[in-house]
Amino acid sequence: MNITDILKKYYGYSSFRNNQQEIIGDIIAGKDCMVLMPTGGGKSLCYQIPALVLPGTAVVVSPLISLMHDQVQALVANDIPAAALHSGNSMNERVSIRRKCQAGDLKLIYVSPETLIAELPFLFNEIKISLFAIDEAHCISQWGHDFRPEYSQLGILKKTYPHVPVVALTATADKITRQDIIRQLKLNGKTYVSSFDRPNLSLAVNYETRKAAKLKIINHYIRLHPGDAGIIYCLSRKTAETVATELLHGNVNAAAYHAGMSAAERARVQNLFKEDKLQVVCATIAFGMGIDKSNIRWIVHYNLPKSIESFYQEIGRAGRDGAPADTLLFYSPGDMYQLSRFAEDSEQRAINIEKLQRMKEYATSSVCRRRILLNYFGEQYNHDCGNCDVCLHPKQKIDGTEIVQKALSAIARTNEQAKTGTIIDILCGHRSHTITRCAYDKLKTFGAGRDISMAEWRDYMVQMLQMGFYELRYDLGGILKLTDAGRDVLFGRTTARLAKAADSKPRPAGIAQGNDRAARRNATSQNLFPEVHLTKPQPSNPSLSPASKGLFEALRQVRTALAQAQGLPTYIVFSDKVLQEMAVRRPNTMDEFLQVPGIGEFKANKYGAIFMAKIKEFNP
Ligand code: ADP
Ligand code: ZN
Repeated sequence: MNITDILKKYYGYSSFRNNQQEIIGDIIAGKDCMVLMPTGGGKSLCYQIPALVLPGTAVVVSPLISLMHDQVQALVANDIPAAALHSGNSMNERVSIRRKCQAGDLKLIYVSPETLIAELPFLFNEIKISLFAIDEAHCISQWGHDFRPEYSQLGILKKTYPHVPVVALTATADKITRQDIIRQLKLNGKTYVSSFDRPNLSLAVNYETRKAAKLKIINHYIRLHPGDAGIIYCLSRKTAETVATELLHGNVNAAAYHAGMSAAERARVQNLFKEDKLQVVCATIAFGMGIDKSNIRWIVHYNLPKSIESFYQEIGRAGRDGAPADTLLFYSPGDMYQLSRFAEDSEQRAINIEKLQRMKEYATSSVCRRRILLNYFGEQYNHDCGNCDVCLHPKQKIDGTEIVQKALSAIARTNEQAKTGTIIDILCGHRSHTITRCAYDKLKTFGAGRDISMAEWRDYMVQMLQMGFYELRYDLGGILKLTDAGRDVLFGRTTARLAKAADSKPRPAGIAQGNDRAARRNATSQNLFPEVHLTKPQPSNPSLSPASKGLFEALRQVRTALAQAQGLPTYIVFSDKVLQEMAVRRPNTMDEFLQVPGIGEFKANKYGAIFMAKIKEFNP
């Protein structure tokens, strides 16, 4: 069988994605290679198909048991003999896996780097190894963002098995890391870099900093994705706990996940999430690496990530099935302060500070966000994407001189002793506790900015900070000080241009309803209108017609029942994307069923009749 037939038979796809075919060809020809592909790009096929073609067993190195488990489950569901050997196996399992492996009955065996090294003189000495695949290969490098010392022993593979091809795969694109991986593994072959673009992920940033308002936005966001799985990344364990608790109070099926929880509790949360029994996980970065769940439909960063690499990896966990997914990042100067302190105290201080700075620039820029991301990863991407908040709401620049002067004047009149919130209160004429206590309501600027909403002032204040008109003195409790550039504007020596702040007036609730994805994003990407309450839940698959949508929901139920009966996560039965295609195509015969992308022969035989029966009910 040639590799295209294998792709169709086992995976149900009729064509390769870019680079897949060349990579597979190289490995089958016995060459090493280095593969860079974004999450969801299709890395697994690159070594799984050679494993099916070549005699012997492929040894796949993976850093986490849960990752191995997911991969094995997906392979077995497609009738490909595979197993994972790890510390979580029972004695019986170990014996049986070893026996199958020795008998040559496994096409792939997944192991941790420690197990691999330990078994080299034993199990792996007794079998024919077709290839080595090193998954998450960036773990080998100190320059990567997830260094694991156990990986550094893998250099031994090429020495011990000079004729067995080694393929290293990662979704981390940093050039230094890439070269380090090749050097350490002693790879002798080509490097394949795929585009890192994930066009199905929408990108948006929100500048809300107040906890209550952020939670409101998140609640709104979740209602826009009814029933859809999502992750909320938080900087601290405490925040993860708080956000989860607040969501639970709002009747959202959410749970926290962080390193402070017991291993058993973490495993429980992860499994519930995988099995679609838990909608939202509020997690520190400890969550996600071990998750291959393909139907995560949205990601929220409650706090700023520490680097663009982390950010891209985290949002990359959404939409792995290729169907649309949404991401939302909250940016706040307070997070910058926290993260700067972490970076200052870290070992690779200069690198980390630089990486954080780039993250901040991303969050605060008015350039198409995808352009920034892809250029960061060294990919020339010279057009606007049309699927980020900047593209959807191109900022109109206005002469902001007067606005800047009002704000800076307020800062000056407080003798540079006030924080951002107080300055905004002064401008808007809002008599808060601090205002009356410090008699700021007697200032000439009190209420001078009433014509602009508070939300707009917050936006302008961030812009002014970025433009260097004032500084935020974290070391002095967050008070604002004028800079020389600011004084130039204040005293009329120069003018200032600002991007027009988002119109934050409440909009009619209807705006975010209907099938329009742009409208949905609109409702959350800009400085929100917490007043918007939806009366009806949103369709989670806006690309489907209402008729197909009904069928899709029915097929989902069929899938859930099948998954539960077998103790499998739903996406192992079929991904959301496959069900969406099925709902649109409505196959009526086995041949038509096999035409649905992502359905291989084994699953077609196993499930075809059941799904087609449901389709018939809709298609009398
Ligand atoms: P990665 O390991 O790079 O994150 P996966 O190997 O899990 O990505 O693949 C992501 C998704 O893309 C899976 O649902 C997979 O079946 C699908 N996929 C992979 N290759 C192809 C292809 N040639 N055509 C269509 N879908 C593909
Ligand atoms: Zn864009």
